[in-house]
Amino acid sequence: MIPRSNIRNIGISAHIDSGKTTLSERILFYTGRIYKIEEVRGGGSGATMDFMELEGERGITITSAATTCTWNDTQINLIDTPGHVDFTIEVERSLRVLDGAIMVLCAVAGVQSQSLTVDRQMKRYRIPRIAFINKMDRLGANPFSVVQALRDKLNLNPLLLQYPIGSEQTFEGVIDLIEMTAHYFAGENGEQRLILPIPENLREQAQEAREKLLDLLSMFSDTIMEKLLDGEAVPQALMWETIRKATLSLQLTPVLMGSAFKNKGVQNLLDGIAHYLPSPNEREVVQAIDSQTQASVTVDCHPDNPLLALAFKITDEDTGQLTYTRLYSGTLRQGDTVKNSRTGKRVRIDWCGCTLTTDKR
Ligand code: GDP
Repeated sequence: MIPRSNIRNIGISAHIDSGKTTLSERILFYTGRIYKIEEVRGGGSGATMDFMELEGERGITITSAATTCTWNDTQINLIDTPGHVDFTIEVERSLRVLDGAIMVLCAVAGVQSQSLTVDRQMKRYRIPRIAFINKMDRLGANPFSVVQALRDKLNLNPLLLQYPIGSEQTFEGVIDLIEMTAHYFAGENGEQRLILPIPENLREQAQEAREKLLDLLSMFSDTIMEKLLDGEAVPQALMWETIRKATLSLQLTPVLMGSAFKNKGVQNLLDGIAHYLPSPNEREVVQAIDSQTQASVTVDCHPDNPLLALAFKITDEDTGQLTYTRLYSGTLRQGDTVKNSRTGKRVRIDWCGCTLTTDKR
């Protein structure tokens, strides 16, 4: 049983063609949900796929609403956020379900029109995000100008956590600026992550980039500031903790990079999801509408409080209707009778994938 503090309910947002489908597929591969990566698309063909298409093509059981995978001791629930602007209501409904998100950006095109639309929605729902600069292998890839665009166009405070090793066709991996190690990806699908010392020719740049990272972090932690002033080493755990808190309060956006298509950097992104994005426990209150008075109310996310849940997707299965539900407060068990606030009717929960409860804090 995975403790709730190790659950991440996340979505992936991206401008069309920046690699959301490829990245989703790689995440499922590295977490063992699918066993083979088939190259169905050549880089840059423009084809897109959502989870449903993936499901059809690969004959695997993932759904368009949500899919679960496990990375080390973290359970990642990947919730599909429709990216198309026409589906704004659907997008907004799924945003209410997320605790965090990955913003995929193309290393060449940077911040594009749909990134702007989704950014506004993400800010409105106060969703903490990690930026993933994808397509680092492409001609013209420039992660530093993407970081600048995050600052200029989206008004975010990006925190570059990696330095690239090689560029464009020679992109080999990344330097982790917290651990100060070089990460290379080997094996047919990059499944072996090799952690090695930083190559001699990049030491100076990596050191400079780390100093910038620490400078920015010192604005969020007095302890880091003191350690820097005293010339002491800053412990890794303190850096992780500071980044996590600043990400959750939307004051920083951690930036990672890689090439989903070339299988480089996805494992580091999975580590980043576990380190920097919140668990459902970190959501203390939620805003809801009282169905009787129509007044806006603030609900405490607690297992002993009345049930408050959002049905965010309904699918018809052979066995009956399946409702994907996000629980905010209370506990939901098989056999319970709950009130549908839209219809006012009471419904019995015939089957429940698991007993859902909000954690006691
Ligand atoms: P989506 O529209 O955001 O879901 O993007 P896709 O995952 O369908 O990718 C769009 C195109 O970009 C496809 O042809 C992919 O093969 C290609 N692509 C995805 N990731 C990368 C990458 O890291 N490098 C390169 N060169 N191409 C990529």
